[in-house]
Amino acid sequence: DTARKQGLSVRYYQAGEDEAHMERLSMVEDLKVALNANDGQLFMNYQPKMNLANNRIEKLEALIRWVRPKTGFVPPDVFIELAERAGLILELTHWVIDSVLAQLAAWKQEGISIQVAINISAQDLMHPEFFNRLQASTQRHGVDARFITLELTERDLMSNEERGVALMQQLRDAGYTLSVDDYGIGQSSLGKLKQLPIHELKIDKSFILKLDESDTDQMIVRSTIDLGHNLGLSVVAEGVENLASQQLLREMGCDYIQGYYLSKPLSVDAVRPWLLDHENPRKHA
Ligand code: C2E
Ligand code: MG
Ligand code: MG
Ligand code: MG
Repeated sequence: DTARKQGLSVRYYQAGEDEAHMERLSMVEDLKVALNANDGQLFMNYQPKMNLANNRIEKLEALIRWVRPKTGFVPPDVFIELAERAGLILELTHWVIDSVLAQLAAWKQEGISIQVAINISAQDLMHPEFFNRLQASTQRHGVDARFITLELTERDLMSNEERGVALMQQLRDAGYTLSVDDYGIGQSSLGKLKQLPIHELKIDKSFILKLDESDTDQMIVRSTIDLGHNLGLSVVAEGVENLASQQLLREMGCDYIQGYYLSKPLSVDAVRPWLLDHENPRKHA
């Protein structure tokens, strides 16, 4: 009886697995369509970052959004990983780059000068055409490379070979800013970190979300900020959700903060009014 139950549950489980597999395939197909259709299913949100030294908003992070017609909003964590596994990430990243650079050019026309960070994956970095295509887009949109930060996750960077470091150096030489995203959860060695030609360390939000309540997180974050500074890097905290955490980060000497307390990711139309409203730095002291 038990065996039959187990047999049933195994078959049931496999059926569920197949369904999940079909759903992933169908999602990849829909994502391909979305990338080519350019009909508004895919769009960018922009989340502000504040410089804690002067309370000014100097940067934004571009975050992709997908409202899939069949099922509605799909979290980027889900479809980015699928795109990576399906060999679609390079195309998606170039879609993002073009969309963000066109927006930067438009903002420049309106007198808004701001730096924007774009998330890229290891597959992008390692692709032989990536650098040239990025350069071509940057030039085509008349944007200066120093307005663009590229965020690579710690996990991605640590698995890279020497060629990855050389490609990062090439980007750095061309004027792009390089950031290590999700720092602290990717099992990096400090030896490797110190070899990377990066400008910025972004502490993973898992250490920041409850910073005000956790002595352990405070200890980790404080040492990470010091580590970053000792390596000559700018340090960003993501996932700052309350004033107490913001104040702790300020005391610890963190350079930039990003999180729901300052602002959720904004639609493109909301960015300009939000920036105008936050022009006076005393507002967030
Ligand atoms: P990420 O690069 O680490 O981006 C930060 C994530 O934290 C974003 O999630 C953002 O909305 C969220 N976040 C910001 N502040 C807070 C906060 O105070 N509390 C909490 N709980 N969350 C906060 P999102 O937009 O869902 O993106 C998730 C991940 O998907 C990103 O993590 C990034 O790895 C990936 N991603 C998003 N857009 C892109 C893209 O255009 N290209 C690539 N390759 N990856 C992207
Ligand atoms: Mg990021
Ligand atoms: Mg990331
Ligand atoms: Mg992160």
